[in-house]
This record gives sequence, C-alpha cells and structure tokens, in this order.
Amino acid sequence: MEIKKLIGEFMDANVFVLIKDDSVLIIDAGAKIEDVKNAVGNAKVQAVLLTHGHFDHCYYANVYAKEFNCPIYMHKAGKEIASDPQKNYGETFYIDNFNNFKYFDRDCVLNLKPFNVEVITTAGHSPCSVCYKIENQLFAGDTLFSNGIGRTDLIGSDKPAMIASLDKLSKVSFETAYSGHGDESDYARQTRNINLFKRFLLR
Ligand SMILES: [Zn+2]
Repeated sequence: MEIKKLIGEFMDANVFVLIKDDSVLIIDAGAKIEDVKNAVGNAKVQAVLLTHGHFDHCYYANVYAKEFNCPIYMHKAGKEIASDPQKNYGETFYIDNFNNFKYFDRDCVLNLKPFNVEVITTAGHSPCSVCYKIENQLFAGDTLFSNGIGRTDLIGSDKPAMIASLDKLSKVSFETAYSGHGDESDYARQTRNINLFKRFLLR
C-alpha cells in the first residue's frame, strides 16, 4: 500500500491518499480537488473516509464524492457536527447534502476491496472522532498527534470519553500513526504520548 500525504487548505489538515492494486481510499477531505486528482491518477477511488466532522477535515468531501463517484464514510454523530458551522468551526461552512454519506456508529470493519478498514471509534476531541486502522497503519485524525493528543475543550469535546479512547488505543498495535495535522509518529512514541496525556486529563 502506497500512502501519499497532501496538506489541506485549512489549518494544514492532512489528507492521505492510499493506493493499492489500482484502488484508492482518501482519508479526510481538506485538500483541493486538483491536488487529490493528481495523487489519485487513474486509480479507482473506493471511498472517502472522514476522521471526524470538523470543517478542516470534511470541507471538500462532497466535491471528492462527485468527482470520483464514491461514498463518504463518517461516524453517525458527525452529521450534526458537519451540518452546523458552530459545531464544525467552519464559520460559514456546513454540509447540507448527505446523499453520498454512509454511517457507522460503533467499531466495525469496512470491506472496501482491496482495503480492509478497521473502524475504531475514539470520541473525545469530538463525538464523531474515529481512527481507521488499515494494514497496520493507524489514521488517527485529531485524536493522536506526534507531539500530543487532540483538544478536548471544543464544542462536542468530552474529556472522560477521550480518556476512554486513549485506553482503547493503548491496546491497539500499529506501525505508524498518521495524524490529522503534522507529522507521522511511531508506535513507541504514541505509547508514551497516550500515557503522558492521559495523566494530564485525569488531573
Ligand atoms: Zn478536529
């Protein structure tokens, strides 16, 4: 699996284009369509996977869905966030058309051939936050960063839920965490992060 990283238009949110056997998954939707088209090339996009409903991660989701004729997957709780500029922090941005969306509301496996996607729900930063584990790589959204964890002081944030999500992630093995902003980090670094920041939250 090849992983291409694009920097989104807002808040430098990352977009990851995963390519395997001429098929593609797109994680998050903050990068301009031209950049995504260049990264995808002639491969077939199976789906857009959103890590959560904040505007910097879902801004162009419907643009991608239309261009590539593919579904958008998101946690069910994300609809309320993405459709409300106050809750998604997009000032005037909101999604008003959810025809292309498919939802999950718990941990599950999405079989998007040739990709097997483990959905790990990780509420805390937002109620709709999830991590996607694909081929031993973790796409962590705004839950884990290379130098910390996601903010828990936003509308929809939940500190106890974040603590539970960190506990959950501490039992998940992976090679590299690809975060919603900033750099990648390895499992050892994230194990230290999770333990350190969990203690901050518990204070
Ligand atoms: Zn966010």
